[in-house]
Amino acid sequence: MMGPIVMPGDKYDVIIIGGGPAGLTAGLYASRARLATLLIEELIPGGQAAVTHQIDNYPGFPGGISGEKLMESFKQQAESFGLEIAQGRVERLTLNGDHKGIRTDDKEYTAKAAIIATGSRPNNLGVPGEEKFKGKGVSYCATCDGAFFRDAEIAVVGGGDSAIKEALFLTKFARKINVIHRRSELRAEKVIQEKALGNEKIEFVWDSVVEEIGGEKMVEYLNLKKVKGDERVRLKVEGVFVYIGNRPNSDFLQGVIELDEKGYVKAGDNTETSSPGIFAAGDVRTKLLRQVATAVGDGATAAMAAEEYISRAE
Ligand code: NAP
Repeated sequence: MMGPIVMPGDKYDVIIIGGGPAGLTAGLYASRARLATLLIEELIPGGQAAVTHQIDNYPGFPGGISGEKLMESFKQQAESFGLEIAQGRVERLTLNGDHKGIRTDDKEYTAKAAIIATGSRPNNLGVPGEEKFKGKGVSYCATCDGAFFRDAEIAVVGGGDSAIKEALFLTKFARKINVIHRRSELRAEKVIQEKALGNEKIEFVWDSVVEEIGGEKMVEYLNLKKVKGDERVRLKVEGVFVYIGNRPNSDFLQGVIELDEKGYVKAGDNTETSSPGIFAAGDVRTKLLRQVATAVGDGATAAMAAEEYISRAE
């Protein structure tokens, strides 16, 4: 059982949970507003954007920029205005009057306001073999693992921006990429679709789902099934990259603030949540479009909303 959080007085005005584009932008704006600001990140700052090999639709970078580089500059810029960054996995957020208590795996913090910017994580396929072969041919990150598949035949599952962009990236390494999609039409941005449909290394397997990932020690094949009818085929591949959407990193918020039925934090464009002094920015909140460009807007708004909340409370 966790004990109560002790509050000797808030060291921080604002604590930001999550260091992707939304969190880092909130950190920049809050620090420039001279709020004592701590950002807590579980892994390395940058979030999912940092493992995107190339970001082509963030304004200001004609020709695109690597996600890693872009996120490194976000971090440097925020730190140059005084943002403090700590590593830790936030396990609990508690409300105690005007104070927000944040407990990580090994520390406790309190602040006057909190900004949730924990983003989302990739969905699993949930088929036999997926768990067994994670890291042994099953991957959710082409930037991290693509180079292991030089000259190999592989598969990408999904038809959204992530699947198609990452399939294109994987053409740098793999000999052939089979994109397995459950419909016969892609969801991805048209400009990305056009590139992929015209790429000779990419083959589309339409109207099909993965039923099983098989092999001995490493992935050797996928068992596929047509969505309509009973037709089944075995596709020999050495690896499979899964890009079938994301789910929000909001488990630690259950029962603390209002979430929608999919677990996204209920918050509008002003980033206010159901609990005063707690704001939500970026992919973790309910919104129409989840992009770096929209995450950045949320981060700036959340920092300003937090500043206003703190000055009203004082
Ligand atoms: P997404 O847009 O939700 O697409 C998920 C894809 O996976 C869809 O094609 C979906 O099929 C398919 N899918 C979902 N569940 C499946 C299942 N159980 N089995 C098989 N297929 C399944 O996810 P995303 O591509 O990761 O993108 C997430 C967000 O990030 C989006 O807002 C996207 O625009 C954004 N993003 C943007 C960029 C960019 O450069 N613009 C890059 C990456 C991500 P259906 O089409 O049939 O639903």
